[in-house]
Amino acid sequence: MDSDPHAGNLLDDVNAQFERAAVYSDYPRGLLDQVKMCNVVHRMSFPVRDDDGSIRVVEAYRAEHSFHRLPTKGGIRFSPDVTEDEVCALASLMTYKCAIVEAPFGGAKGGVCIDSRNESEGFLERATRRYVAELNRKNMIGPAVDVPAPDYGTGEREMAWIVDTYTALNPDQLNPFACVTGKPISLHGISGRTEATGRGVAIGIAEATDSAEDMEAIGLTRGIEGKRVIVQGLGKVGYHAARLLQEAGARIVAIAEYDGGIASDSGIDVEAVQRHRAETGSILGAAGTRTIDSPFQVLELDCDILVPAALENQITADNAPRIKAPIVAEAANGPVDSEGDAILRERGILVIPDLFLNAGGVTVSYFEWLKNIQHVSPERLTSRYQEVATTRVVKALEGATGAHLSDVDFMKAVKGPEEIDLVEAALADTITHAYHAVHDLWKSRAMPDLRVAAYTLAINRVAQSYQVQGIFP
Ligand code: NAD
Repeated sequence: MDSDPHAGNLLDDVNAQFERAAVYSDYPRGLLDQVKMCNVVHRMSFPVRDDDGSIRVVEAYRAEHSFHRLPTKGGIRFSPDVTEDEVCALASLMTYKCAIVEAPFGGAKGGVCIDSRNESEGFLERATRRYVAELNRKNMIGPAVDVPAPDYGTGEREMAWIVDTYTALNPDQLNPFACVTGKPISLHGISGRTEATGRGVAIGIAEATDSAEDMEAIGLTRGIEGKRVIVQGLGKVGYHAARLLQEAGARIVAIAEYDGGIASDSGIDVEAVQRHRAETGSILGAAGTRTIDSPFQVLELDCDILVPAALENQITADNAPRIKAPIVAEAANGPVDSEGDAILRERGILVIPDLFLNAGGVTVSYFEWLKNIQHVSPERLTSRYQEVATTRVVKALEGATGAHLSDVDFMKAVKGPEEIDLVEAALADTITHAYHAVHDLWKSRAMPDLRVAAYTLAINRVAQSYQVQGIFP
């Protein structure tokens, strides 16, 4: 199969999944409709000067799906194919995702129709800054109203341009750095944000594979150790997910990128592939791997866990019957469309849904936003105190038992946390907690799958929040 299945309408799929879950909710239909609808979408066209001095008109969007919590929150993607429906769908997913991990935001999403791979840095910077100016004009960016983050085709660099532009346009703001998350650490970002989504994916998969009963139902043994994994898209999410799954004992047997795939039955060294890509511009030809011409063929190879981490609509009615993995772990947003999902379900494949699985990014974005509005990093006030308090306990235990720790072990035992320690612990706690909330609902209400459970949990939480606030006026 060589054609790109990336063609369906993600909004229809998200809304179809919403309806599958809505039947399990006791909230009135009108309220459910309010939860479902994308509340605001702004379409804009603006001029950007090209490197040769000519002018190009760029089309862009920002969708704010739900105001039940403020600010709204969601990434900005740079992709030539981005559409209004797509950003509305992705904004809806953000609302549900935030509800599942209890991050107090409504969902949003932005899209700019440019191809980050084929534009100069200068053009990307001018387009990013102009996009922020357009959002600012409509009060669609700011620490209290709408807070973007990285998504497909954007990263720390773009977030730095965004914060700089926003600060210049709003010089009297007290918390300007909280206008966007996913910033570089040196620009008030938070440790662990870059890898947060991938780390959350790895934690979520580890949690799902930890259930002996669930694994037995799909013919697998419990645990991540030795599982054969395929990752589609070695970007910000896919790279860290692959690296951390490998660290946890999984074997990465194939990786797909936009220009083809690589495979090795004995396992691919993810870091080595990343170095090879930095040197050559492609993952193809990495040492010890065989090349697969079409990235879509990679999805159909034999493995235990397939991790689509690139774009939406990658598994459809077209290729779902040929997927061999008993687990599909949705690291990307909407990688399986509704028809593909129904086929995977019929075939007994366990789908770990995007709503839950890739919520690590927004979780750590929440921590970054908190750091920015508090103007202090989370460990600053507590780390030294914890070190002193633990030292007292260890000394008392040594005195009572006569045992003595070596200097190295003593320092390890008493050392206060750094920012990264707190972020990683809180992320792991959030994802684990969310998984069990979704899993328990799935089992206790005998729902058809984890996705319905995830949507139901999210819908009920958002509806409850509308209900307690009342409807204005
Ligand atoms: P990214 O741009 O860093 O990476 C995407 C990768 O996919 C790129 O390396 C790209 O070359 C590759 N790719 C494109 N088309 C492909 C194809 N047909 N086959 C294989 N690879 C292909 O983007 P990202 O931030 O890693 O986002 C990936 C997905 O995860 C998106 O769906 C995004 O919405 C979702 N997501 C991202 C975050 C985040 O924090 N970045 C959070 C939640 C969800």
